[in-house]
Amino acid sequence: MPDDFERMWDDLAPVGRSATSGGYFRQPWLSAERELAGWFEEQARARGLVVETDAMGNVVAWWGVSTSSTGDGGAVVTGSHLDSVLDGGAYDGPLGVVSALAAVDELRSRGFEPSRPIGVSVFVEEEGSRFGLACLGSRLATGAVSWERARELRDRDGVFLADGLEAAGLGGSPGTSLLHGVGTFVELHVEQGRDLVDRSAAVGVASGIWPHGRYRYEFRGAADHAGTTRMEDRADPMLTYAMTALAANKQARLAGERATFGRIDVTPNSTNSVPSAVTAWLDARASTASSLEELVGAVERQASERASRDGTSLVVKAESVSGEVTFSPALAARLAGPRGWPVIPTAAGHDAGILSAAGVPTAMLFVRNPTGVSHSPLETAAMDDCLAGVSALADVLAELSGDPVGELG
Ligand SMILES: [Zn+2]
Repeated sequence: MPDDFERMWDDLAPVGRSATSGGYFRQPWLSAERELAGWFEEQARARGLVVETDAMGNVVAWWGVSTSSTGDGGAVVTGSHLDSVLDGGAYDGPLGVVSALAAVDELRSRGFEPSRPIGVSVFVEEEGSRFGLACLGSRLATGAVSWERARELRDRDGVFLADGLEAAGLGGSPGTSLLHGVGTFVELHVEQGRDLVDRSAAVGVASGIWPHGRYRYEFRGAADHAGTTRMEDRADPMLTYAMTALAANKQARLAGERATFGRIDVTPNSTNSVPSAVTAWLDARASTASSLEELVGAVERQASERASRDGTSLVVKAESVSGEVTFSPALAARLAGPRGWPVIPTAAGHDAGILSAAGVPTAMLFVRNPTGVSHSPLETAAMDDCLAGVSALADVLAELSGDPVGELG
């Protein structure tokens, strides 16, 4: 008898949790995340699912069919990710994976027999917390990023992705995508905002994802003594960075958009030295591609002007940019309409966005998050809402996989 939702949730709770903050450190291809990957395979096999893994560690566990029979394009896949941001919450990712397994159980207990294959998926490095490129696993699986480009990515310790994979017992040639034959993708996710709280709804459907990107700002100046160097003689990249962070915040607030500098590296990072370099990462999001371009352009312009006044230099590089995602409106209406679920947009990126951009009809379900906080140990969801999410997902899977192939609208 496979574990139920609450048992599975308890299994995951201690893995990768910080004793001091209560947050999670589940970076891809490292011990805590690998432990979860092993746990997932065990749970899938306990349910008799057929587990398929690719060279990156993406997994799809199939219900009741051999994987070769999914080649007709009719399979319905649901799942999420098991990695976390640094000091992240418990729900972002794992809620969708555990709910997917529990939804399979619920469908079986209802006596449901799918007409189309159902797969439960886990995509690796969704957060980009280690190699800097969000949704790396799904981007590789859909071909949005090539293996040649990805293998050159390096983590903070300078480890190449190819070596990180090898250390985790993975890697090699990417081979055929796991997503060959997938006709519909559904991701259930904790809401990363308070729309559902405001609407008093436990479950909602996503309309789309805002365009967003990550940009690396390299500010360079001249290292010098913090005591003996006169203020007017300095070329201090920290000042240029600080003004840039303020400008980004102001630009985003004025436009009703989002701009965040959440990570910086300082060289030499010494208390009594003027720094020689500051590298900072801008995360920017806006409701349309053109407004994102405007926002990012305005921040870069102000940063460059400031650099010329500070005697510093600036190079900006876009590390990843994701266009606007509109999930299939017909699918969203079909799922949400009869059930009275609200349809809401999000400014958070997801693997579902990558699959949608790759042409797979995609839907997302959100589960209410009472704090609205995410990417933090404060992220939460009530058990009743989680269970409502499982039932909602089971209903959606029943509807999508009960249709004969070719009839999805
Ligand atoms: Zn997530």
